[in-house]
Amino acid sequence: MKKLLSFVLLLTVCAVSSPLLTVGLAAETSEKVFEPDAVVAENTLALPERTSYDENTTVCLSVGGQTRTLALKEYLVGVLAAEMPAGFPVEALKAQAVAARTYTLYKMALYSGEEVLPEGHNGADLCDDPGHCEAFLDLAVEADALWGESAEVYRQRLETAVAETDGMVLVYEDEPIAAVFCAASAEKTESAADVWGRALPYLTSVDSPGGSDCSQYEGTVTLRQSDFRDAVLAIAPEADFSGAPGTWFRDSHRSEAGSVIDVLVGEVRLTGSQVRQAAGLNSANFKVKVDGENLVFTTVGYGHGVGLSQYGARYLAMDGQTYDQILYHYYPGTQLRLEG
Ligand SMILES: [Zn+2]
Repeated sequence: MKKLLSFVLLLTVCAVSSPLLTVGLAAETSEKVFEPDAVVAENTLALPERTSYDENTTVCLSVGGQTRTLALKEYLVGVLAAEMPAGFPVEALKAQAVAARTYTLYKMALYSGEEVLPEGHNGADLCDDPGHCEAFLDLAVEADALWGESAEVYRQRLETAVAETDGMVLVYEDEPIAAVFCAASAEKTESAADVWGRALPYLTSVDSPGGSDCSQYEGTVTLRQSDFRDAVLAIAPEADFSGAPGTWFRDSHRSEAGSVIDVLVGEVRLTGSQVRQAAGLNSANFKVKVDGENLVFTTVGYGHGVGLSQYGARYLAMDGQTYDQILYHYYPGTQLRLEG
């Protein structure tokens, strides 16, 4: 199990607020007219029947180079703010909250007992680098800049998504899973085996509608051939680019979902993820053509494509699915478990 936990996974985030999703918000909030007596009665009835797991669990976080200890509840709201547009349907936000809580516990288990924590963690369990752990925004500081006059409404949406899934985690064989997520997969998600070379039974390729609603679903990157060559030589100094640019790429293998698993670049075999990083692509689901002195890459999807697709979750939620249905779709074979 330790080897399984040592599998390093990369998250890709979509931390942009989506203007197209504010529509349903007013309808959900405009009916809230409170009367003082009713509030008192409601609060009395709303006393929690169980202790809040998220309030009583703490995480140690390295954020902006500073180490902080905060309640899991506060941490998850900050992760949601950074990782998913707050206007997404609440069932999608709840699915994201469970994925984030699960991934947090997975990471904390990964590092517990380790003498040397990852660089950049400053001794903390987690960092705020989305390429390593999860992005995080401190809403006490950032909410107004992020959402303007809608800050309170959006904050409440995220707090609700966390509170309504309090303590809920996804497990496989009784262990919190590596609940990775991405902004938008292609029509199918990628498997962990194809992207990271390590199979996990709950990170297989599944159908994923709705990705094309993401504004970065299709992307184009134009690079000077010399710049791309230099970027590849930085990671593979033995690469040979003496041939014509039209011969630089050959013998690619693609996953069922469409991403490049690996490809010969300058006669050196690179993974699709390495090419994605070298060229600064939105995804490893790419095609490339020569155009004069440039290389033109076109991509489908945004992120690594593994696990929960955030735009897929949005689509399924708008189609009436609940957060648990969404999670079971994207992480097949897992179970929800209530902690605490
Ligand atoms: Zn980290």
